[in-house]
Amino acid sequence: MVSSTTAYDPMSAYSTAIKRIEKSGIRPTKQRRILAKIIFDKGKRHISAENLFDEVKKEDRKISMATIYNTLKQFTNIGLIREIVVDQNKSIYCNNNQSHYHLYIEDEGKIVDIPTKNIDLNIPSIPACLQLHNIDVIVRLRTLKDKAKS
Ligand SMILES: [Zn+2]
Repeated sequence: MVSSTTAYDPMSAYSTAIKRIEKSGIRPTKQRRILAKIIFDKGKRHISAENLFDEVKKEDRKISMATIYNTLKQFTNIGLIREIVVDQNKSIYCNNNQSHYHLYIEDEGKIVDIPTKNIDLNIPSIPACLQLHNIDVIVRLRTLKDKAKS
């Protein structure tokens, strides 16, 4: 289990990302570099393709939505980011590659990382021919409408 106490260093997160992109055989094009920078530059966080598109625009860059979707898919495939499918039409991407689960507040669209030690799982024994690749846990919450704000 990876310790989650390591401080987040945006510059090294970005350069590590670029190294991993190069190592995986994906060409680190200008657009991929810009997206990696935006994703990893602001600390551990969760971002949707739409938010990423807005942030690209804010930096006066032009990257199409299709390129953003493709790049997020590539980054996910090489394990650079994690895709959290919050519902069938919406994915949010997590740039924290330390082991953790997610808490999702559905009506606020908010995602919070939770340490794996906070959730006890009973994984059935795995046949010898298989290996555990990953466990995704999303704890889904909704605010109580009548008690939410006072
Ligand atoms: Zn996360």
